[in-house]
Amino acid sequence: MAQILVYSEKPAAARELVFKAKELGAALGLGVVAAALGEGAAGTAAGLGEYGADRVYVSEDSAFAGLPVDVVAEALAQVARAAGAEYLLVSSTRRGKELAPRVAQKLGAACVTDVNSLTLEDGVLVAGRYALGGATVALEKLDTQTKVFAIMPKTFEIGAPTAGAGEVFAPALSLQPSAVKLVDRRPKEGESVNLDAAERIVGVGRGFGKREDVALGEQLAAALEAELACTKGLADFQWLPEERIIGLSGAKTKPDLYVAVGISGQIQHTVGVSSSKLIAAINTDKDAPIFQLADYGIVGDLYQVVPALVEKLKGL
Ligand SMILES: Cc1cc2nc3c(=O)[nH]c(=O)nc-3n(C[C@H](O)[C@H](O)[C@H](O)COP(=O)(O)OP(=O)(O)OC[C@H]3O[C@@H](n4cnc5c(N)ncnc54)[C@H](O)[C@@H]3O)c2cc1C
Repeated sequence: MAQILVYSEKPAAARELVFKAKELGAALGLGVVAAALGEGAAGTAAGLGEYGADRVYVSEDSAFAGLPVDVVAEALAQVARAAGAEYLLVSSTRRGKELAPRVAQKLGAACVTDVNSLTLEDGVLVAGRYALGGATVALEKLDTQTKVFAIMPKTFEIGAPTAGAGEVFAPALSLQPSAVKLVDRRPKEGESVNLDAAERIVGVGRGFGKREDVALGEQLAAALEAELACTKGLADFQWLPEERIIGLSGAKTKPDLYVAVGISGQIQHTVGVSSSKLIAAINTDKDAPIFQLADYGIVGDLYQVVPALVEKLKGL
């Protein structure tokens, strides 16, 4: 039986992909296998079995230390061949976007990255991804025998674990040490923020008149226990670091709540928040595009609305 092979270096993303693969496998008559590689792989494997992998290929080989992409790509290609994988689902993280084409090249497969929807049409998987600077969604089908999809984290809803424990299997891998030599490791300069995982986000835009005023956005974020994010416009002013940009050039988020303050809602920004469960917007311009996306909107001056909201939230 042909298989769908799932891999992500992030255990939560791997579980999400396995859960989706189970659904697709049932429709396509394919089994689901997963790979867990590197330190802690044995622990990750159990979760993958529970979420739908019939078999998990586990290796904690020292060659995976630091998860070098060239070594992981070779290992995945070997696992894919051994398992008879027709489809590979990997996560479209920074590493995943490098990994997917490398594995695809080894398998003679077509590959698509940044996938944000995956649907079945007449037995064919159709991948959706933003195109033309986020102005449209391109739907793409791969016509090679083996197909590699790199899928944005949090694209699919994950349900409760229903499958039994998958079989854990130690593959016989033939691996060379990585061609990349790690010379030095330093903490990244600037703030570290994980907008991808944030449940609540307050986004600030050019409606803020000066740098100091961004403190108002910070106060609202604190009152909502939310992360602070921004538009590219604001980061271009260097009022907030690039890590906090949401949109085409920044993070693609999926929070429960997104509050857009002084943000017009250009498509290059909204592609990063359109999957939020609830969107609220504050803008002086009642015709601002953000209101077309928002579930709740306040047409008003942020300098009056935000302090009033913060005051209300403090009282709760
Ligand atoms: C290739 C490319 C990639 C891009 N990538 C990104 C990206 O990843 N992320 C991103 O954000 N942008 C991106 N952009 C830029 C994007 O097109 C917009 O220019 C940007 O998102 C606009 O930011 P903004 O909403 O802060 O500013 P503006 O569009 O200037 O909007 C400011 C809004 O604030 C409102 N406002 C003004 N004063 C007040 C007030 N006192 N109270 C309340 N509201 C007020 C105004 O009515 C207006 O709607 C990209 C552009 C290109 C070309």
